[in-house]
Amino acid sequence: MAAVIERPLSELEAFERQVAGCTRCRLAQGRSQVVFGVGDPHSDLMFVGEAPGFHEDKQGYPFVGQAGQLLDKLLAGIGLERSNVYIANVLKCRPPGNRDPAPDEIQACESHLFRQIELIRPRVVATLGNFATKLLSGKPTGITRVHGAEQQVTLGGSRVLLYPLYHPAAALYTPRMLQVLEQDFARLPELLGRPPVEPAPVAPLLAPVGAEPAAVQLGLF
Ligand code: URA
Repeated sequence: MAAVIERPLSELEAFERQVAGCTRCRLAQGRSQVVFGVGDPHSDLMFVGEAPGFHEDKQGYPFVGQAGQLLDKLLAGIGLERSNVYIANVLKCRPPGNRDPAPDEIQACESHLFRQIELIRPRVVATLGNFATKLLSGKPTGITRVHGAEQQVTLGGSRVLLYPLYHPAAALYTPRMLQVLEQDFARLPELLGRPPVEPAPVAPLLAPVGAEPAAVQLGLF
C-alpha cells in the first residue's frame, strides 16, 4: 500500500482550524459550523460579504445561495471563477433569521477577517455591501455613496485597494442596482492590473534643512 504523505498545514489552514472552535460571541450557540472562507489562498482578489445565511451555515462555504449564484455570474463576466478568488465574510457565523450583524458581533469577529487578509495578502479587496465596506474602510459612509470608488487602505499590515460594491443579495431584486453592480464589477480587471499600491506615507523623521535643531533630552540630570 502506498504511504500517504501528509503535507504540513499552511498558516491559513491552521488558522481556519483554530477559528472553527470560536466562541467569542453568542452566534457560536446557534451555528451549524463556522464559515471561514473559500477560494485561492494566494489570490490577488478577495471578496468580503456580510455573514453566512441559511445555506452557507449548512454547507460551510460563503455565498452558496442565490446571492452566490449571482456572484458566480458576475465573476464569469470578467473571466474568473470562484476558485480564482478568495471569498469571506465579516461574520463567520450565521446570525439567527439572517438578521443584520450586531456591533458587538462584528467587534468580536473582526480580528479573524484581518488575520485572513494578512495571510492572503490580496491586492484588491472588494467589499460587498454596507457592513464589509464600513468595517474595512474604517468610515461610516454607506455603500450608495462609495460603490465603485477604489480607496487605498492598510489592511492586515499591507496596502490594498479597497473596492466597495453593492451586495449581490440587494441587486437580486433591484434591476437598477444590478446594472450598477455589473458596471462596477467590470472595472475589477483594470484595478487588478494596476501596479501594487504605494506604501502609506510616513511622517519625516528628520527636521527640514535649516530648521532649529530639535531639543534633545540627554537624561543626564
Ligand atoms: N452569503 C454569504 O456568505 N455572505 C453574504 O453576505 C450573503 C450571503
